[in-house]
Amino acid sequence: MGENAIEIEGLTKTYAASGSQPPKQALKGVNLDIPAGSIFGLLGPNGAGKSTLINILAGLVVKTEGRVRIWGFDQDVNPRQSRASIGVMPQELNIDPFFTPRAALEVQAGLYGVPKSQRVTDRILKAIGLEDKAEAYARNLSGGMRRRLLLGKALVHRPQVLVLDEPTAGVDIELRQMLWANIRRLNQEQGTTIILTTHYLEEAQEMCDEIAIINHGEVIARDTTSALIGRMDAKTLVIHPEDSVALPQMPAGVDSCQRADGALCFTYRRSEIATGAVIEAVRNAGIVIRDIATQEPDLEDVFVELTSESKGAA
Ligand code: ADP
Ligand code: MG
Repeated sequence: MGENAIEIEGLTKTYAASGSQPPKQALKGVNLDIPAGSIFGLLGPNGAGKSTLINILAGLVVKTEGRVRIWGFDQDVNPRQSRASIGVMPQELNIDPFFTPRAALEVQAGLYGVPKSQRVTDRILKAIGLEDKAEAYARNLSGGMRRRLLLGKALVHRPQVLVLDEPTAGVDIELRQMLWANIRRLNQEQGTTIILTTHYLEEAQEMCDEIAIINHGEVIARDTTSALIGRMDAKTLVIHPEDSVALPQMPAGVDSCQRADGALCFTYRRSEIATGAVIEAVRNAGIVIRDIATQEPDLEDVFVELTSESKGAA
């Protein structure tokens, strides 16, 4: 086992045509290494191929071409070991309505060949906050409880790698925070590598050490979260003038606009124009500045820029 929890090389997936649907190439040669011990984010718009990639890791979708190594085990050479190394919380809420949470966890442990003596069902029930509902029928569980049960099911064989597909899509804030606390604890205390997909950019920015952005079945960026954000050169300065004023003349390379509340916004490249020069140009126009604020780029800016760039290429 090297330093990577997951190694993916030249991964492609083409879904076969069905009915009037033509074949669909969902992954177009993905190369991706995911470091062991990290919280890794897979970001991308709807239809980008995130679930396809995750479901291939989980062994739920059969790849078309390429190599996948999980915890050092090649999926084709050592299918049993590679499967035992990973737990997946799927995007779909597929829970058998006739099982209680306890039974669902026991059945899952059985599927993974965990001997009875090594099962940690009670510990998992506690961790996911379902001790009180251990004997309730799943059909009587709320959506949030079902989602927590799915997380529990992904943990029965104590995998080194935990994959979560949109774990917090459509869940309330309380549950989201509980899920995140659980996931952080697993990462910190047990060193579990976490891979998650999310379309909440703020969440990825807050949670993930490293991020890959995937669009139209291709990885278009992959870096540490801070480096991705640092890549963005744009900066916006917002100036609230003392009196109502018109937009002043600005140096070349500065985009100006005026907001409905009268504030002036100036966007420019940090590498080309100094903030001081922008402020000076405003002062030189005779404008008295009441307040001033800057807007640094965030992950959302990076995402929008990258996904709009790669549209033309697709
Ligand atoms: P994401 O999770 O990023 O939203 P998916 O991996 O679910 O993306 O889907 C990627 C592309 O593959 C989409 O165009 C989707 O319509 C298509 N796709 C996904 N699953 C299937 C399937 N079972 N059969 C045919 N096409 C599929
Ligand atoms: Mg998906």
